[in-house]
Amino acid sequence: MSWRDILGWATDTQAQNPHYSQNTTKHDVSADCANTALQDRNFTRSLTDACQIVELTPLQLHQALSPEDVDDWIAGRFDDRTLAALAQVVAENRQIDQGIVPEAFTAIAVCEGCGPVWLRVAAHVHGCPWCWNRAAGRPVPRPPGYRKFP
Ligand SMILES: [Zn+2]
Repeated sequence: MSWRDILGWATDTQAQNPHYSQNTTKHDVSADCANTALQDRNFTRSLTDACQIVELTPLQLHQALSPEDVDDWIAGRFDDRTLAALAQVVAENRQIDQGIVPEAFTAIAVCEGCGPVWLRVAAHVHGCPWCWNRAAGRPVPRPPGYRKFP
């Protein structure tokens, strides 16, 4: 899963401009090792910065990224703000997997599959992040007064 998939960004532009074909010179075998070390240090710093306000380690964030994601970051196709947003989503997804309601999920919504659930906005939705928990038999925390569904 790429950073575009995790953040829910449209993928139709990927088909027109696949990232592995945009910059064919990025894997130049004569690349300077010093540049690679600098990129690694900058990437590590960005991972650390992105994890400052979320419950996620830089290693966990790095593990959530695909090799293509790292190439995209190095090529400047997404910036540190996007990396921070990605860290937020990855941290929230980890909480959801554990049945923990993310801090930003303050609204009571109704999912067609799960029933009443905590989400970012109060809405009626066809599917939600808790659907994965329900399908896997993991906990789906309910708002007060909605203990069982259906
Ligand atoms: Zn659901």
